[in-house]
Amino acid sequence: MSEWLFYLVVALLPIAAVSGYRLGKRKKQPERQEGALSRRYFVGLNFLLNEQPDKAIDAFIKMLEVDSETVETHLALGNLFRKRGEVDRAIRLHQNLIARPSLNPEVRSMSLLELGLDYMAAGLFDRAESIFKELKGDVKHKAISLQQLMLIYQQTKDWEQAVLVAEQLQSIDNLDHGPEIAHFYCELAERQMAQGNPKQANQSLKRALAIDAMCVRANIIRAAIAYEQGQYKQAIKVHRELIKQDIGFVPEVIEQIAASFQHLNDHKGYRVFLESTLAQGHSPTVVLAYADILRSRKGDRVAADFITQQLQQKPSLKGLLKLIEMHIEHAQPSARPSLEILYDIVNRSYKTKPAYRCANCGFGGKTLFWQCPSCKHWSSVKPVIGLEGE
Ligand SMILES: [Zn+2]
Repeated sequence: MSEWLFYLVVALLPIAAVSGYRLGKRKKQPERQEGALSRRYFVGLNFLLNEQPDKAIDAFIKMLEVDSETVETHLALGNLFRKRGEVDRAIRLHQNLIARPSLNPEVRSMSLLELGLDYMAAGLFDRAESIFKELKGDVKHKAISLQQLMLIYQQTKDWEQAVLVAEQLQSIDNLDHGPEIAHFYCELAERQMAQGNPKQANQSLKRALAIDAMCVRANIIRAAIAYEQGQYKQAIKVHRELIKQDIGFVPEVIEQIAASFQHLNDHKGYRVFLESTLAQGHSPTVVLAYADILRSRKGDRVAADFITQQLQQKPSLKGLLKLIEMHIEHAQPSARPSLEILYDIVNRSYKTKPAYRCANCGFGGKTLFWQCPSCKHWSSVKPVIGLEGE
């Protein structure tokens, strides 16, 4: 919306309100008061048209002293200011509204809610928090207040409070906040780990899985804790659970799985583990890990045949790159340059593809985020599966 159009819309709101007011009250109100009211509107309008919104707000606030029935117009004006990013003006307007002693409790709550949203937009979370804590006692504003408090506690990384608020919200809005709550527990667990408290961290992770059995992140952290403590069998057990949850996350943990078997000196166990994972679903990462084992045990040809057979069933750029790489090693000197060009083309194409994509907003990238940096959804960013991904 252009500046000019915006101010025109803003200016028309009070005029519309005052017209309605006049129609309803014409016979009851003395001429003198009505004249003062409309004069102040036109003064305010004039300031708006001259692009002096601060003075316009002053004019409208003065008008409010004359008649509090125009409160909704002021709320709409404040809302417009906030949506335009003019948060300071919105705050001033809403603060002035709340300061009116004559305001009825319902309008006061509405004004307070708007002020809370202004503070959120301005990043003044401590002020917003005290407003929404007060408003959550009001049935009409309870759900939105809890939603805002949940946002505040995520921003301020107060995960204990985030859990409490999300659980209250779940009980009233009938939506499943389980995946979010599970991530709050995972955040707590990561902090407890950093503080050298793996026992507490494991308790938080159990809570995460109790509320969302599909929380992949909880199992990734559980396995990492077991691995760090030298409990390699436990780490492998948790990794098996993780693969059952979502085989697409194998690339995140494959190195740790291989290292766990290495520590146990159990090479056969690793091979059997990969075979059983291959039977559970397709994963180019597992195909390549298994091909490495075949290569060391039975030679390049068997490994290359295995990759080719897997590629025929499920084509993947990742598998194709490995296959070309192996062919380059064995190629005649005359064939090598063209294979290298082919490798380069496929590799460039593969590198431009995102490894992860948000199922909610489509945001893609090479980094795994538990909370999408674009739409802020939890658990919506997943590894890309198929030809170009995992
Ligand atoms: Zn997203």
